Amino acid sequence: MEKITPDDIRYPDLAEKRFNKRYAGNPEYIFLPQSTNEVIEAVQDAVNTKRRPVVRSGGHCLEGFVADPTVQVLIDMSLMTRISYDTEKSAFAVEAGATVGELYRRLFLGWGVLLPAGEYPGIGVGGHILGGAFGFLCREYGLAADHLYGVEVVTVDAAGKAHSVVATRETDDPNRALWWAHTGGGGGNFGIVTRYWLRSPDASGVEPTAALPKAPTSVTTFRVSWDWKHIDEASFTHLVKNFGAWALENSHPDSPFSRLFSLIFLHHRNLGSIEIKGLATGPNATHLITEHLADIAGPIGLPYTQQIEISAWLQFALNPFPELFQTGFDKVHMKGKDAFFRQPFTESQIATAWKYLTADLSIGGMLAMATYGGKVNSLAPDATASPQRDSILDVACNTGWLGPQGAAASLDWVRNFYKDLFADRGGVPVPNEQTDGCMINHPDTDLTEAQWNQSGIPWSTFYYKENYPRLQQVKAKWDPLNIFYHALSIKAE
Ligand SMILES: Cc1cc2nc3c(=O)[nH]c(=O)nc-3n(C[C@H](O)[C@H](O)[C@H](O)COP(=O)(O)OP(=O)(O)OC[C@H]3O[C@@H](n4cnc5c(N)ncnc54)[C@H](O)[C@@H]3O)c2cc1C
Repeated sequence: MEKITPDDIRYPDLAEKRFNKRYAGNPEYIFLPQSTNEVIEAVQDAVNTKRRPVVRSGGHCLEGFVADPTVQVLIDMSLMTRISYDTEKSAFAVEAGATVGELYRRLFLGWGVLLPAGEYPGIGVGGHILGGAFGFLCREYGLAADHLYGVEVVTVDAAGKAHSVVATRETDDPNRALWWAHTGGGGGNFGIVTRYWLRSPDASGVEPTAALPKAPTSVTTFRVSWDWKHIDEASFTHLVKNFGAWALENSHPDSPFSRLFSLIFLHHRNLGSIEIKGLATGPNATHLITEHLADIAGPIGLPYTQQIEISAWLQFALNPFPELFQTGFDKVHMKGKDAFFRQPFTESQIATAWKYLTADLSIGGMLAMATYGGKVNSLAPDATASPQRDSILDVACNTGWLGPQGAAASLDWVRNFYKDLFADRGGVPVPNEQTDGCMINHPDTDLTEAQWNQSGIPWSTFYYKENYPRLQQVKAKWDPLNIFYHALSIKAE
């Protein structure tokens, strides 16, 4: 297979394919395989020549796991995008280079079904599904990984030979542990996923239309916005409390509000507004939204704008909340820090948020809270490799900047903000009654640093909790030479 070197016209374009411009790599060459055999060939070549390979699918890694100057061979999955129904497995076969948007499009137009996956259509399924993958419909249908039936993975054995292996969730499958590791273990750990098979655990029969959830006929979206200049500390506190109380009340798996997903964007005051955006599905979607906003926004007693719209499913899925993903948002350098919450913010955490979001600094950033739970919370922590199964919120402190000169102030702000939120537990959301670690799809290498993680708890516990030893065994078995690694990869031990 052809090696794409820096003098190839395609190289600069491929080198630019990464969401977070904070990181850059310079691989000696790039492979663009078109089949599983070509992935095997590419991996074997890297092993034989003792070069470090790394795989990229959609390029949306938030840390520098792919765009890393020590990576010598980049295996880019962009040309492996086939999506079809596999009648032998009664499951959809999806190649790893497809984007989430293309998956939504093909599943809907072909069969009227969906996978409850992530929010941004440009994400690659390759690095997304195996990290658990939550999204707009997770409260109704669970995580994308909860619908994973099988994986085809190119791995390297102890003798340095690359080959492909298929692992499914069938209880008599000898490779079942490898399937399990791909339901939340995260990317770049065990090998290169070439293909996923998708079929819901409760699907029956052999018809493709019954293999995954049926798409909704429509999606009702809502947007509420407050002008920051009307907000004082008392109303801010009230709003954050209301959002948390709503999530606590309505995140049970059989809550009627499982069909509603909501995000509050507590932007830094520099950005001018505080917003809630979300959606609901089903015949009483508007009613669910009205009730949700009556609990959260109404009692604040401040003027706000409100917009409710109905869209067809695919139109929404391919361009959800266009203002969130405007042209140019992928030119940004960014740092995100994530935390699962089992209980709402405390008074002191809200006071910390107020302090950082009103700090007199010229930075851009926010604290975002997404409603979690619902169907996600119907599984046991060890049923998949995604162990957080009783959280009510996924919370993120994010900041972005446009050039190297913005880095220091923004990083300092976001890191200290997050650390102060968890000041009583070493600066991190340790699994306890209120918090429950972090999401591997939103990786944060600060967890490996004593300056930012003073809890004495290793980074792996935040992502994997009690599932980590099982993931280590899978790593030892399927990647014994540790060919696939990065700053937060699973260690065999
Ligand atoms: C704008 C934006 C929106 C997002 N929204 C959501 C969301 O709604 N829900 C959510 O859960 N996450 C979300 N994420 C996080 C996203 O799921 C992860 O960043 C995911 O890893 C991206 O996958 P990728 O293939 O695009 O990235 P890549 O950069 O290609 O890869 C990410 C990691 O996975 C590895 N990897 C890639 N392909 C493979 C493969 N074929 N086999 C094995 N390992 C592989 C890479 O080596 C790397 O370590 C979002 C990220 C961004 C930037």
